[in-house]
Amino acid sequence: MIVAMQESSTEDQIQHVIDQLVRMGFEVHRSTGARQTVLGGVGAPHDFDTREVEMMPGVQEVHRITAPYKLAGRNFRPEGTVVKFTNGLEIGGKKVVVMAGPCSVESREQMFAVSELIAKAGARVLRGGAFKPRSSPYSFQGLGVDGLKLLREAGDHFKLLVISEVMEISQIPLMMPYVDIFQVGARNMQNFNLLRELGKVRKPLLLKRGIAATLEELLLSAEYLLSGGNYEIILCERGIRTFETYTRNTMDISAIPIIHKLSHLPMTADPSHGTGRRDKVAPMARASVAAGADALLIEVHHQPEKALSDGAQSLYPEQFAKLMDELRMIAPAVGREIA
Ligand code: PEP
Ligand code: MN
Repeated sequence: MIVAMQESSTEDQIQHVIDQLVRMGFEVHRSTGARQTVLGGVGAPHDFDTREVEMMPGVQEVHRITAPYKLAGRNFRPEGTVVKFTNGLEIGGKKVVVMAGPCSVESREQMFAVSELIAKAGARVLRGGAFKPRSSPYSFQGLGVDGLKLLREAGDHFKLLVISEVMEISQIPLMMPYVDIFQVGARNMQNFNLLRELGKVRKPLLLKRGIAATLEELLLSAEYLLSGGNYEIILCERGIRTFETYTRNTMDISAIPIIHKLSHLPMTADPSHGTGRRDKVAPMARASVAAGADALLIEVHHQPEKALSDGAQSLYPEQFAKLMDELRMIAPAVGREIA
């Protein structure tokens, strides 16, 4: 941490700040210029609050120089994390993995129809929510364990891995036999009790960015999982809340290269929730691959107009197939391939 003292600060105030830094666990290096004193605190403990120093008399400004997370940081594993599955699929390697499927699992017919179409187009992971976080309690809430069984059955039938959202701790053991990847949704990114329990799980997990979460907060949430010993974490940008109302959320494409710089964890893009509009999903998916996304999560429905959730942002099967063709052209331009 760097502390710049005010020009008018007294020797007493400077000494108080030095004492405080030492109490916080820093080794302090002082440089006294012609007008101003600057204190450098090194050997930082990971958890400290810069405001404790900022608020002290005589302090002008304080800058943090180390990240508040350590296991999620790029330095922890400079070569990057590759999440490997038993069928040979990898997320975080050279190949970009496309995960697709309906927002919610609705019926056997629906799951088989959608799975067949997305598998044929080249998706490798089937998505489908069985426990749904809906903004209204009157909306369809998901089929629960019956939905998980349908998801697994369709996935196995078309040789697709499966991903589904876990909303609370009690669902973890129920989901364990059915899913290959746990999904933690935007609304639960900071459900720290849930994250702690999922840290104990030994199965890949996709953590979505919260609706109003900074990237630092996303990485601190990942830190909860990693510190529990679950290292198979995949992050996901799914759009954030801004003042723009044209789209459901604002898809932050810049999150992809930023996460790649700050962290070793693979980064996914979800342009479906990122835009909330079917006609804007393909452009944002293409942009995400161009920006370096390791995977995509895309909602596809065989009959979007009849979908029980998120139909307006679900692609028609033909749109998805066309998008896959486009992605196969874009990926090589940035040194990647589609898995
Ligand atoms: C979903 O994937 O269907 C979902 C609910 O996503 P999010 O948590 O990003 O809203
Ligand atoms: Mn959805």
